[in-house]
Amino acid sequence: MSKPLCVMKFGGTSVGDADCIRRAAAIVKAAAAKSPVVVVVSAMSGVTNRLIDAAKKAQAGQSDPIPALIADLRKQHITALEALVSDAKRRAEIAAALDLVLRELDRFLQGTALLRELTPRTLDAISGIGERLSTPLLSGAVHELGVPSAAVSATELIVTDAHHGRAEPLMAQTRERSAKRLRPLLDQGIVPVVTGFIGATVDGVQTTLGRGGSDYSATILGAALDAHETIIWTDVDGVKTADPRIVPEARTIPEISYNEAAELAYFGAKVLHPNTLRPVTAAGVPVLIKNSFAPEKPGTRIIARGESNGGGVKALTAIRDVSLITVGGPGIVGLTDVLARSFAATAALRVNVLFVSQSSSQNDICFVIPAADQARTVQALRNAFGAEIAEQTVEHVSVDSDIAVVAVVGENMRGIPGIAGRTFSALGREGVNIIAIAQGSSEYNISLVVEAAAMQRALATLHKEFHLQETEGALQEASRFARQS
Ligand code: ADP
Ligand code: ASP
Ligand code: MG
Repeated sequence: MSKPLCVMKFGGTSVGDADCIRRAAAIVKAAAAKSPVVVVVSAMSGVTNRLIDAAKKAQAGQSDPIPALIADLRKQHITALEALVSDAKRRAEIAAALDLVLRELDRFLQGTALLRELTPRTLDAISGIGERLSTPLLSGAVHELGVPSAAVSATELIVTDAHHGRAEPLMAQTRERSAKRLRPLLDQGIVPVVTGFIGATVDGVQTTLGRGGSDYSATILGAALDAHETIIWTDVDGVKTADPRIVPEARTIPEISYNEAAELAYFGAKVLHPNTLRPVTAAGVPVLIKNSFAPEKPGTRIIARGESNGGGVKALTAIRDVSLITVGGPGIVGLTDVLARSFAATAALRVNVLFVSQSSSQNDICFVIPAADQARTVQALRNAFGAEIAEQTVEHVSVDSDIAVVAVVGENMRGIPGIAGRTFSALGREGVNIIAIAQGSSEYNISLVVEAAAMQRALATLHKEFHLQETEGALQEASRFARQS
């Protein structure tokens, strides 16, 4: 393709109702005037949660709520459609397409309720419905503004493995299919609007990329199509120095590196799906995070090397809904393969290990995993160490789920001594008890396990300690002053 391509993704709140969708369509129109654009769209906000909730109820045999859910979804999407698309023929076509999707949803849910069985594959089919409903609406709205547009299902583009609930893309096939399907549209000046969150196996079975996965869809397509940039339109001004819901004084970071942003995403910053930066890092394609409600603001630019903000610490993040697993006992010292066997067990379950620490006396190892994986992980560990538990070499596999992991992130922390010290002293002063500590050798990140109840206090304390609330200008001033004195 001759002209540089832009892939842009709109999150759930950015397509939350007809007004938001119209705003998103205007952003697409403005971008399409400059270069070819591929749009990726999430479900309207709240829809995925409602679908998953209905699936779980159906699994418990409850079919009563199904008609009301379908009626609600129909009303929500048809109301938006009527506000967005004026041409009667087009409107009828989109309404018919929405109806087909809703009828499919009805069959999936009724089948689940009948069998009282919800396989990961069926859950993927149900939870991906929201994107299939929102995509024709945004495409219709773009068309309404005079820009030709077509709704495209990512099942035709993104080829994934069969790991339902958290599928990974197969990039070579994805590249081939995306080019074949999308380039002819782009060449004709048509803006493809693609379902976020979903993909399909080589055999065409629909999968999902995990919650919040539309960000990942966008960078997968960005990489597959050699886009010159990927823009993630959301409901905040960019990546902030901390979750603004927990630390209200958090500030937007103008520029951040792939590594830093990936650490933040991995440790719970909801603004990005944890894998978002993977597909684009090697090619060095910039990712912009921008506010669809304030498109004039510069947002955050994620690039290979983000500018330093003066200090070493760039941002903080925290993750709840995690569990600390400890494998311990006096005999651990002599067991040379305890780490290997523990992580073989978690790897077999594809459980994401967020944090690992080993006590220096080697009497125990502890690691943090998502709380949702706790039961099966503990079971797998008890099986793996069955013999040692019986002979008491391993004394316990225990769980603490009343915790949070707080991470201090910044690429330039490397080489600045004392950041760990300041972190611990500040928390100590505020009486925050640190349960475990880990620092990777990359030094992008110091992570701490704290009691769940202390998470907010820990974040507020560290945000102040590292002056993250201060403006860029003030920080530059401070670092100039520090250099001079
Ligand atoms: P979308 O629907 O656009 O994908 P999300 O709700 O998934 O939006 O992500 C955006 C939200 O992420 C923000 O509204 C904010 O509350 C939350 N968030 C958490 N940590 C951060 C952070 N460090 N910077 C910006 N937003 C964050
Ligand atoms: N709609 C999906 C979710 O809520 C994907 C996304 O929003 O990115 O998880
Ligand atoms: Mg999101």
